[in-house]
Amino acid sequence: MKGKQIKKKICLLGLYGVGKTSLVRQFVYNKFEEKYLSTIGVNISKKSIELTNDFNENILLEFFIWDIANIEKFDTVTQSYLSGAHGAIVVSDILRESIIPQTIEYTNKFLEINNNSKIILVGNKFDLADKNSFDSDNYISKLSSLNLPFYFTSAKTGENVENVFHSLGKSLI
Ligand code: GDP
Ligand code: MG
Repeated sequence: MKGKQIKKKICLLGLYGVGKTSLVRQFVYNKFEEKYLSTIGVNISKKSIELTNDFNENILLEFFIWDIANIEKFDTVTQSYLSGAHGAIVVSDILRESIIPQTIEYTNKFLEINNNSKIILVGNKFDLADKNSFDSDNYISKLSSLNLPFYFTSAKTGENVENVFHSLGKSLI
């Protein structure tokens, strides 16, 4: 493909077990694992996507995706990993509404480190939502104070996973 090539560092944020590693795995390898994939230190995956910018130019965007262990600690090591990121995907788990305040806190802390970063919010494990009782509008409204794009995803079925990365990519080029 002809066109510009751009490299961007992005990070996954969110509490233990929300599906950060699973989302990266689905996006990069189209694979899903039911068991917990323990993350040690930091895993950096690469994947390129093709996009067109506002001038209709082809862009090859290479993501460097940082999946950081114990990200919820926000200690100095974590902060040094986050530093210099152009974007982040902040993940919450739709089965645990109680973690929404932490999700908001992580987003704000990340923005303190990387002021001009682009962020997409994700409510993951959407495949497990009870279609009769899950109130998606209510869930979204709890994150609306952040005023950021939001998607429901499933790292298991792949629903919206590509869309999240493409949407973040679009905002980065
Ligand atoms: P992390 O700690 O945020 O990296 O979470 P993981 O990616 O390791 O996922 C934690 C657990 O949730 C694992 O058992 C995954 O199989 C499971 N999981 C992650 N995403 C999904 C999803 O979208 N749907 C379902 N059903 N399970 C998921
Ligand atoms: Mg992980």
